[in-house]
Formats: sequence, C-alpha cells, structure tokens
Amino acid sequence: MKETLLHIQSEAREKVATVQSSAELEVLRRAYLGRSGVLPQILRSMGKLPAEERPVIGKLANETKELIEQLLAQRAADLGAREQEAQLAAERIDVTLPGRGGSIGKKHPLTLVTEEICEIFTGLGFEVVEGPEVETEWHNFIALNIPPDHPARDEQDTFYFSDDLLLRTHTSPVQIRTMESRQPPVRIIVPGRVYRRDPFDATHSPIFHQVEGLLVDEDTTFADLKGTLTAFAQKMFGAGVRTRFRPSYFPFTEPSAEVDISCIFCNGDGCGVCKQSGWIEILGSGMVHPNVLRNVGYDPEQVQGFAFGMGIDRIAILKYQVNDIRLFFENDLRFVRQFE
Ligand SMILES: [Zn+2]
Repeated sequence: MKETLLHIQSEAREKVATVQSSAELEVLRRAYLGRSGVLPQILRSMGKLPAEERPVIGKLANETKELIEQLLAQRAADLGAREQEAQLAAERIDVTLPGRGGSIGKKHPLTLVTEEICEIFTGLGFEVVEGPEVETEWHNFIALNIPPDHPARDEQDTFYFSDDLLLRTHTSPVQIRTMESRQPPVRIIVPGRVYRRDPFDATHSPIFHQVEGLLVDEDTTFADLKGTLTAFAQKMFGAGVRTRFRPSYFPFTEPSAEVDISCIFCNGDGCGVCKQSGWIEILGSGMVHPNVLRNVGYDPEQVQGFAFGMGIDRIAILKYQVNDIRLFFENDLRFVRQFE
C-alpha cells in the first residue's frame, strides 16, 4: 500500500507537469480526486488494513492527497496565466489601423436660414418666442383685425379642425398670445411652420415657414421700423444692400409696406432673378393697427408698434438659388447635404 501511494505521488508529479490546458487538468483532477478517483478508492479500502498499519498509511494517503491538490493548483495558476496571455494576444486591437469615420449630419437649409435670421434679431435686442401650430380663430384672424367676412381670409384659407380650431396661416397669432400675457415693451421674433390651402408646386407649398417680428413701446415710429429692417437686410445680405419701402396693405398694420432689397445678384443693375427690376421683395411690414393693440388690452394712445414678417423658404430660395420649393420638403439627402 505504501509503495502504491508513493508511486501515485511520482506519477502525479509527471502527469501534472505535462498537462497543456485547463480542460486536461480538470480530467486529471477527477482521475485522482474525483468521487471514483484513485485516492478516494484507497481511502475507502483502509478498513481492510491491519489496525497497526492504518495510522501510518492513513497519514501517507492524506499527504498524497494534499500533494496532488497542491500540484494541481500550481499548474492551474500557470496555465491560467498562459491562457490569458494567449487570449489577449488573439484579441489585440491594432490602434494604428485607420478608423471608420462616422457620418456627420448637416442642418437643413431652412434651419440654417432660420438660425441666421434669429441671430441677427437677437443681436438687435429681440427675443425668440414660439407658439402652437393649431390655433383658434381669435388668435389667427379676429384679434389681428381680420373679422369673419374679411377678404384677406380668402388668401389665407387653411385647414380647419372645427369652426374655431385651425392650422395657423402665419406666425402672427404668437404676437397676440405674447401681448395678451405681458405688458409693453415687447420685442419679439417668432419663427415657425405655417399652413395654407395652396397647391404643392415649384413655387407653392401647403406648409412653409415664417419669421414674424413685433416691437411695441412708447414713441415707436415708422423710422424705427425702417432702421431695424434696413439693419437686418444689411446683416443678412451684405453691408452694401439698399432697402426700398413700397406702400402696401395688411389688415393688421397701418400704414403697411412691402420691403425690397437691391438685387444681391446684379447689385441693382437688373438680371434674371430680379426680373430686370434691380429689386427683390423680401418681407411685409407696417405699424401695428390700433385695433390689434386694443384687442389685446393695450392703449394705442400710450404705445405704438411695428411688425414684419418674411417667408423663410423664400429667403432660402434666394440665398441658395433653389428653383423649386418642394426640394425643401422631400428630404433628399443629395440636396440637403449641399448646404453649410
Ligand atoms: Zn438682379
């Protein structure tokens, strides 16, 4: 029995040393120490030994078991380290390889123009305000001096949810909402999406975009309107740009004016874009009608105001020389990616 155990010890040393993987080591562990392994079998057969031999052999058997456990643990540690190294080498990342570039999105041309307009007016002391696209008849029409039978409603036919709820035809209702909720002075611009029952063709769209501006304060005059809009036009289109104010009509302003700029393509000499006139119309404006001020509870004897509105799509068409408004809404990336 003693020889058997000593033989097991030397055999185990040899075998453990030659094992090459954790899996093989596990097989070996079971062969020696598992439930039906060599050592448990020997320990179970101890009962058959003469009583005087039992303590000696028992001690040797336990020493053998401990030795094998030690050998296995040592080999397991060595193999573990080796295997981890091998795995790290296999998974090594070559940081010198060129990266796969992510594709970076670009802003839509309408967003670019809106941001540019807002930035200019913010610099002039205006605050950017937004409002709902679904509006009441009061905010979209009546408070803006457009009663139910007014002919201006024909031009601004829109989509109705009910007699009183509609998709706004301009961003002007936000003027009303703002004035209803605060006292003068008011100095706001309102960018946003608007709707009309227009056909969808090269020059029309049932959805388009406006920026509206409103200033109400004491002693506001038409000179303030002209100064503000000329400063805007020169920042937006270039310092040499001239402005021209033509009398016009809007229900919510009196007097009203269309604003033209000298053609940015021919510098006023006349070309295809300006139809040889030398001028390009960019916005509508005027002094806020006293009825509008009264409708929101302001006293037109105390405060006056001016307002203006321009089509963002129209400015973008001019600025980027786009010949079809539908391109802005088709989301064709080949088109949208061209703008910086
Ligand atoms: Zn021109």
